[in-house]
Amino acid sequence: MLGLWMIAGLAHVRKQEEAAKAEERPEGKGDKDKRHNRVYMDDRSWVNRRTKAALRAIEQWRTFSSRVGLKENEGKTQIAAKGKKCKEELEKQRQEAAIEKSSIKDKVEVLGVITAKTRRKWPKREKERLQEATRRADRLSTLQVSRVVKRVAVQTFVLPKAAYGWVARVPPKAEVGKLTAAVWKAVRKPRPAAVPLAEVLEGRDLLTLIATRQFSIISRLRKQEKTPWTKRPQGGTALGCLRATLGGLGWTLVSPWKWRHGGLKETLQIEEADKGKHLIRESYRYQQLRKFLGGKRREAKELKGTVVDYCKYNVGKTRRRTEAVPEYRAVAMGGVPSPAVMEKGGKEENCPHCGKASATHEHVFWTCPLAGWEGEPPQDRFVRRFGWYRYSQTSEENDNIASHMEGVVKKIWENRWGKRKTREAEDLRGGGE
Ligand SMILES: [Zn+2]
Repeated sequence: MLGLWMIAGLAHVRKQEEAAKAEERPEGKGDKDKRHNRVYMDDRSWVNRRTKAALRAIEQWRTFSSRVGLKENEGKTQIAAKGKKCKEELEKQRQEAAIEKSSIKDKVEVLGVITAKTRRKWPKREKERLQEATRRADRLSTLQVSRVVKRVAVQTFVLPKAAYGWVARVPPKAEVGKLTAAVWKAVRKPRPAAVPLAEVLEGRDLLTLIATRQFSIISRLRKQEKTPWTKRPQGGTALGCLRATLGGLGWTLVSPWKWRHGGLKETLQIEEADKGKHLIRESYRYQQLRKFLGGKRREAKELKGTVVDYCKYNVGKTRRRTEAVPEYRAVAMGGVPSPAVMEKGGKEENCPHCGKASATHEHVFWTCPLAGWEGEPPQDRFVRRFGWYRYSQTSEENDNIASHMEGVVKKIWENRWGKRKTREAEDLRGGGE
């Protein structure tokens, strides 16, 4: 695999370097017109059973890299052998090949992959990178900018940093959890919201992102027929890793390079990289919706017996509306407790329309005579609770329900907090940017 990457960008590198050299020495011009260009290439790794062959790879690379004008950081070379005998052999051959002694390491640090059959320790640098991504998210949460700006910043500066380099491994769950929490803090999940619903609408799950990247790498390699299919998923290979993640997301293997998702009724094929990445994200959202419905939250229990299909078109429409309207975002994620719920928590609060005590969600949104809703409440109980777009309604009905619920949320918030400066009020100002 690495062999392919090595060749892939070379024509480009060579061209860039030639152009750079020409530009660095403009004819007849002084020093102030001098410009420096640099092209960076990433790490390369080789594994070989024979010491000689492994060392030859280094030598060949060095020759080649000087030919195309790459500047190597020789200090970063790491060579390791397994077992006492091989280590002795390596030391002998190293001297013959005139390779620095400092390059010989006990353990090779390669990020994102496994380098030994035994259980591998988590390299410090992988950990540091994830921690740095988490710190970035933490810093974002203290910035005085709107949530929309923060969301873009998370997508630009936090997740790519965290997702980088996981070719044949995934990060430990605990660290992913810390990052997820920091990201949600930065983009301000409505406090009482149901996490899985928030994940369906706005989630940026790191493991899903890593899986889409692995899918796209393998898809590219597959086109060159560089990746053979192996019957049993193997740990430490990109394919094994991807297969495990896909299984966890509800994909069943139907034949080599082809998966089927019963819930989504979709087929995933390695040849279709872009569609595949999209479907992997969809299966994550699907899974999160199921997780919510099977969960312990009061709203989920109330929905027992109701069929809630996942329909991607309408989830997309719902998501886009949540991006634009903070009140809708809050109710769609389950983040607007009713006055009755607030009362249970010890805070006295009445219906914002009629002043009734113990006003439930159903009352304030649908049945209160002063709520402003004409006619029967929507049939779909999931819609009545969260206002999502659904196929069972026309698009006009969907829009009406959403804007009605937004208006009620606004009244609840005004009644609850008055003109006090609240997190939600800040969202109101920042949300529409
Ligand atoms: Zn009322």
